[in-house]
Amino acid sequence: MSPSRVLVLNSGSSSVKYQLLDMRDHSRLATGLVERIGEQTSRLKHTALTTGDTREYNGPIADHQAALKAVAEELARDGLGLESTELAAIGHRVVHGGMFFTEPTVIDDAVLTEIERLIPVAPLHNPANLTGIRTAMALRPDLPQVAVFDTAFHTTMPESAARYAIDPKIADRLRIRRYGFHGTSHAYVSRATAGLLGKAPQELNVIVLHLGNGASASAVRGGRCVDTSMGLTPLEGLVMGTRSGDLDPAVIFHLERVGGMSMDEIDTLLNKRSGLFGLCGDNDMREIQRRIDEGDREARLAFDIYIHRLKKYIGAYYAVLGRVDAVAFTAGVGENAAAVRAAAVAGLEELGLAVDDGLNAVRGDAPRLISPASARVAVAVVPTDEELEIATQTYALVGKDD
Ligand code: AMP
Repeated sequence: MSPSRVLVLNSGSSSVKYQLLDMRDHSRLATGLVERIGEQTSRLKHTALTTGDTREYNGPIADHQAALKAVAEELARDGLGLESTELAAIGHRVVHGGMFFTEPTVIDDAVLTEIERLIPVAPLHNPANLTGIRTAMALRPDLPQVAVFDTAFHTTMPESAARYAIDPKIADRLRIRRYGFHGTSHAYVSRATAGLLGKAPQELNVIVLHLGNGASASAVRGGRCVDTSMGLTPLEGLVMGTRSGDLDPAVIFHLERVGGMSMDEIDTLLNKRSGLFGLCGDNDMREIQRRIDEGDREARLAFDIYIHRLKKYIGAYYAVLGRVDAVAFTAGVGENAAAVRAAAVAGLEELGLAVDDGLNAVRGDAPRLISPASARVAVAVVPTDEELEIATQTYALVGKDD
């Protein structure tokens, strides 16, 4: 039998998330997370889904190399080691693929060089992704390693949506344009929404709302992205856990000129200390809802600002698409916060959008409709699965049939 397992690695600056999947039946064999790499208080949490065993290691893990070695050892303890002949490939999440990478790509030296060249537009993410890839390549040099890019799904956007209204010579020289992120999730969820409705993706226009700690919206026409809310970086668009999303660019001049802040301080303010957290001191929607229930006005205003922005994007993408067949909510907030879903479409009945309160209150892991049967536009909750999507794309590239 040909190898059918794919290890998915998502390497962040101080963390590595991983999942081992068997692509014959899409079953998950193991999953885990290494956090706080490089600190004294690193932690590895590993779960073998074959046995249900969970193991935790607390103590210093110096770097990504040590982290991946530790992961490999944990997998080996469950008989799932990286040396296994059943392993077909390793699939890596890479945040920024620029305009160069429109598809998942088998990694070679040229690909590594290009990912490296994109560091100026993804200074936080691409270096961490590269470290993960290089470490995995050193562990299994013979194995195909595939890069799956967060930006790839958005490369179909027309220039009218992707370009900012600035001098194209400056934009091209500095590679400034809308790239968009969370593309793996938008691709998976738009396809799964079509599946839920029993349609082919080509037949359907969908607005996907990926509402996690990071949040982005996309307009998907016939399976192809035509607009998305994140831009050159993940800062643009919706109100997020700690990112401001859209603001007048002149706010930045003002913070520097009048507020006396440095560019690094402004970067930190807008990326790490804004959004829901900046507005009310909490970025977890559960906590915000709890505070609202207790009558907290700061939390209420943060929620209202979040919803107002979300509604603006639904309206904007309705206009971009002309005809909308479905709106799909996904990620931590989108999948779990019924109040956010209800508030986001409240008052949009004229656009054919509504939620049924009973259906909206039902919890579950499966894709489901929450709009009334009579609604013109389907409103759905579609849990995202970026790891499965990365594994599927990786396996499609390298997997061989028996
Ligand atoms: P993600 O980035 O997709 O993992 O989403 C993380 C966010 O999902 C958290 O910050 C929470 O705000 C939100 N979240 C998770 N579970 C719930 C829940 N049961 N109700 C409301 N929000 C939730």
